[in-house]
Parts: sequence; C-alpha cells; structure tokens
Amino acid sequence: MLAASASLLNVKVVILDVGDHAPAKQIVAPLGPELAHVDGSFADPEKIRELASKVDVLTVEIEHVDATTLEEVRAASQGKQLAVHPSPSTIQIIQDKYRQKQHLASHGLPVSDFVAVESSIESISSVAEKLGLPLMLKSRTMAYDGRGNFVLRDIQQAQQAIDFLGNRPLYAEKWVPFSKEVAVMVVRSANGEVQSYPVVETVHKNNICHLVFAPLRSRDASLSQRARSIAENAIKTFSGAGVFGVEMFLMEDDSIFINEIAPRPHNSGHYTIEACETSQYENHLRAILSLPLGSTALKVPSSVMLNLIGYSSSMDEITKTANVALSIPGASIHLYGKSECRKGRKMGHITIVAESDLQLRTRLRPLLQSLPGSTP
Ligand code: ATP
Ligand code: MG
Ligand code: MG
Repeated sequence: MLAASASLLNVKVVILDVGDHAPAKQIVAPLGPELAHVDGSFADPEKIRELASKVDVLTVEIEHVDATTLEEVRAASQGKQLAVHPSPSTIQIIQDKYRQKQHLASHGLPVSDFVAVESSIESISSVAEKLGLPLMLKSRTMAYDGRGNFVLRDIQQAQQAIDFLGNRPLYAEKWVPFSKEVAVMVVRSANGEVQSYPVVETVHKNNICHLVFAPLRSRDASLSQRARSIAENAIKTFSGAGVFGVEMFLMEDDSIFINEIAPRPHNSGHYTIEACETSQYENHLRAILSLPLGSTALKVPSSVMLNLIGYSSSMDEITKTANVALSIPGASIHLYGKSECRKGRKMGHITIVAESDLQLRTRLRPLLQSLPGSTP
C-alpha cells in the first residue's frame, strides 16, 4: 500500500523482502539492474546495507528490523546524507515493549502498571502477588498479533506461560479491564510537527485486530480530543519522521491508557485510504520526504475496516468474503498477494464507507455473515 502510494507521486521505490514475489514487489516493477529489489530478510545486516546503498531515504513497515544496522548505515552515510525514518533509536525503543513502556512512563504519559519479570515460577509468582490476577505476561520483543502474550489467570499456569513464551525476555502488565480499545494514527514530520487522524474503535478477536470503526462514537464529546492529544504527545517524544499507530485502552470512567505504539503505517489506519483526505501511506511518504503533510480529516461520515484473516491453508474463505464485498456499495477490497494462506495470517482487508452509521451497519452485515463460523 505504501508502494502504491509512492507510485502516484513518481517516487521510485526499492524493496527489501524475501522472494521475488513479495507483496510490495508485485506493485512496483524493479528499476533496472542497479536499483533491483533486494531479496532477503529485514533482519539481515548485509541485506540492509545493500538496500541502503541504493536509496536516499530508507523507511520500514515493521519494527522487528535490525535497528543496530540501520543506525550503522545512517551514521556511515554522513557525506551522502542517507535519511532513515523513523530514526533507528525510535525503532530500538519501540521494538522492546518494556523499554517502550519505560519511555512513555518517564515522559508522564498514561500507561498501566508494568514490571520486569524473569522466566521463573518464583519471579512470576511474586509479580502476580504485586499486580494481581489475571496478569498479562508479554514478550519484550518480536511480538505481534498477541503471539507474545500470555494471560495468567491462575498461578498454577506459571510453567505453562514459561513454556509458551519460550526463552524470550519477558515483562508483566497489570490486567486492564478496558471498556473499548481505540487507536489514533499520528504523522510526524522530520522537524517534529505532529498531526493526528480521527480516533477509531478497534475490535480484536483472538488477539488479532478484526474490525476498525472510524470515527469513534462516544457519549463524551471531549474524549476524542483527549485521546488525540495523548497520542500526539506520545509521538512528540520520539525522533524521526513518519506515521505511528498509537493503541489505547479506554476505561469505563473514560480515562485512557496507552497500550503500545507502532512506528509505521498501522492496521488501525488502513481505513484512511478510502475515508480520509490523505491516507496514512501518502502522509508517511510526505513526512519522510520532507513534503508538506496532507489533511488528516475524514471525508466520509462513517467507515469500517474488516481484516481478512486466514482460516486455514486455503484462500477459499477469504475469496468468499471478497466476492460478497463486490456487491456492496462503498466497499473496497484489498488482497495482499501473500504467497500462502495460513490460519491467523492477515491476507487482506475490506473497507466500507457510508453516509451514516446505520447505512454502514447495513453494508457490513453481509460481510460478517460470510465469515467462517458466523450464524446467518
Ligand atoms: P499487535 O499485533 O497489535 O502488535 P501485540 O502482539 O503487540 O499486538 P498487544 O497489543 O500488546 O499485542 O496485545 C494484544 C491485545 O491483548 C490487545 O489489543 C488487548 O486486546 C489485549 N491486551 C494487551 N495488554 C493488555 C492488558 N494489560 N490488559 C488487558 N488486555 C490486554
Ligand atoms: Mg504490537
Ligand atoms: Mg497491539
């Protein structure tokens, strides 16, 4: 989606990912032998150096990259002025969720209680005593779609949690009994100007983002403004340019905690492609290229994004829902061209825009009914 946006601005893109048919490589043709796409992992220092040698501006769409090498190539390029966005130090802080929480807390931003924990029954027991049960145990690194999380409901499960989370460094969070999950995309220019998108409500299923409603509807008119200010203030504390996704918990009393931050275009911002004046992707490009930022305003009254999550190794279920979307007014289908479908893998998404919330719900219903396991 970033590559598609870049092509509309005549921005030439070189992609580092595994394989010749990686999704983004299907969007932009290679720019000749000198500027061919790179085949390899974004965690491989050699491949990052190869990519850096081909570009003026380097950006990432995932935080689990080798940030040390990114800093090395940035520092080594002083003469040539390679820009790396967001800055490697920002990625380094964010990719370790415990460091990220410490960073946010030290800047006075609202986060729930969290503590370091060792992978031992004694350490987990003592933390459970301190923070109570249920307790959220999280892997500090390499987490996504809840795959680094374990909900400890009973202290007897401590060994099971250690086995599940493996040898990864851990920390623990106090359980947050949120009433809703919300998110705000924030775009930050290289000189530190920030602009936020509208607040959205995110609905998760099995720890994976399932639906995103934009904008958030709430009884308290000041809530959205508060959530946007918290998100903007959080992003002001980091360096480098680009869009950031700020995931938050909304409590019954309308107080807000930050859950976590993604230093990149984010699933909760996919709706911006059809529903906002400038998409998160175009604004990411504008930010990292030092162009004026575009308006983040909604241009439709109501929108929703449905993630298309693999149900098995077959694409049949995804195709079925996409086929239903073909007959729904206001629906836009995005299939990512991933080589294999797997259970729990994000294979695409559908955004619906509408003139009202009622119309949106009416348009969404047949899509939800087409999902595996739904009762018509
Ligand atoms: P992502 O794909 O968003 O990067 P992740 O693997 O980094 O996911 P988190 O965002 O930390 O995981 O957690 C996934 C989900 O688990 C959250 O969206 C929320 O529903 C729930 N969750 C996380 N932390 C807590 C908590 N402290 N208390 C209650 N629920 C939580
Ligand atoms: Mg995460
Ligand atoms: Mg998350």
